[in-house]
Amino acid sequence: MKGPPPSMRRRRIAKLRSENPNLSGADIARVVGVCRERVSYVLMVEGLATKVPPAPRPHRYCLNCGKELIKNTYFCNRDCRSAASRMTLVCDVCGSHFERTRGEIRKSRNIHSSHTFCSKRCQGRWLGKTYGGRRNVPRPRESNREVALGSEAKGGKGGSGILKHLTPVAST
Ligand SMILES: [Zn+2]
Ligand SMILES: [Zn+2]
Repeated sequence: MKGPPPSMRRRRIAKLRSENPNLSGADIARVVGVCRERVSYVLMVEGLATKVPPAPRPHRYCLNCGKELIKNTYFCNRDCRSAASRMTLVCDVCGSHFERTRGEIRKSRNIHSSHTFCSKRCQGRWLGKTYGGRRNVPRPRESNREVALGSEAKGGKGGSGILKHLTPVAST
């Protein structure tokens, strides 16, 4: 068996406890090198406190209005929570200011992350400008069908109409 004899360990555990009332049983076990059960057994036998008195919690304040909080929360009420999670953004297309919750922003982050749009309409306008007026660019299958439908409506006879649409015009 390694380490000091059991009696010494026992004295050490008792000493640690009486000198450090805030040191937990697990910490004592780690310092002395025994298991936690052994520590609480020794403390019990020695008539010392086996449990650490709960440390006084630091004061918490509402992250929105600054009111002191009683419970272990970040906001004093639901209104403060939603107010703090809302952010004012500026639309990249029309320049209008609008509000979004953090959750909504996170959701829309996946597509066109670096741009902010107030509405689907503005996003559509931006896509139109960026991708040269072709709609549904992220889903090419659908846009092809639309081109085909468009050419049919104009009176074209299928194949040739589509080709005309997709071949870039080489003027200049
Ligand atoms: Zn508040
Ligand atoms: Zn807009």
